[in-house]
Amino acid sequence: MTSKLIQVSNFSYRYNQETEVALKNINFEVAAGEFVALIGANGSGKSTLCNALVGLIPNYFVGFSEGDIIVDEKDTASVNVGELSQTIGLVFQNPFNQLSYTADSVAEELAYGLGNRGVPRDQMFSKIKEIAGLIQIDELLDKNPLELSGGQVQRVALASAIILEPKILVLDECTTQLDPMGSKQIMDIIKKLNENGITIVMVDHDMERVAELADKVYVLQHGSIVLGGTPEEVFCSPHLAEYSVDPPDYYEITKKFIKPGYSKRDFALTESQAIALLQEVVLYEDRNQEPQA
Ligand code: ADP
Ligand code: MG
Repeated sequence: MTSKLIQVSNFSYRYNQETEVALKNINFEVAAGEFVALIGANGSGKSTLCNALVGLIPNYFVGFSEGDIIVDEKDTASVNVGELSQTIGLVFQNPFNQLSYTADSVAEELAYGLGNRGVPRDQMFSKIKEIAGLIQIDELLDKNPLELSGGQVQRVALASAIILEPKILVLDECTTQLDPMGSKQIMDIIKKLNENGITIVMVDHDMERVAELADKVYVLQHGSIVLGGTPEEVFCSPHLAEYSVDPPDYYEITKKFIKPGYSKRDFALTESQAIALLQEVVLYEDRNQEPQA
């Protein structure tokens, strides 16, 4: 028995037609309820790792794997991917790959997964309504999935994963098609899901967001995890630049602005930390100002 919901041990993978491995000796764990971010340059292996977590690798992709991935005590290599999808759901980097396109309407598309799960027809309807309200796709339910914009497909893709209520949600750059407001709205929903106990593994390039949301961050480079820890441990690492990762903008700005003595801390990673730090600095300056005659 283990308290870890995901356990990746010495996992390596090479795509059949490639000479280089895409994942090299990956080790990490995710506890139930944790919010984990995977970051790293393009081609570092983030999507491959997502595919492996949900069992598409090695069950659907052709290639060579070593090591183990245990999800909720099931070995992803030997369990049926459909069965695993009750525990762990993936929102694909390319949302157009998420939908079956065998349904004539978005509502049918959402019903599809529920049908596979054996949810009775009358319960499907209320579930679809509920999720459509949450993700704000009510007005899309009667549309043909082929007629949707990229942002709409991305919302439907997310809805089709969330509606199955997996314990773990793996999100591979799930807001790339959305404008800043839409992205913020989706991130607020994901944050709320996590607060309600859903474990999140999220690939993201927005470091402000990662610092704000993640409990743990893992940095990939050339298929290896080269750095891992809390956002503070990762973003303050002197090696960060070697891995083609920049810290959140707040970090650079506050590092430049906060002079020694102002505060115990001289950096912030998130907006709220930056505001708190600025308030401290203002208080410090007030205290140290000569009284005006
Ligand atoms: P990231 O998501 O971090 O950008 P990927 O996991 O997509 O990285 O890619 C990691 C490496 O695996 C890259 O070298 C990429 O070219 C290769 N790769 C990704 N998907 C496939 C695939 N379906 N077939 C062959 N090689 C792939
Ligand atoms: Mg990717």
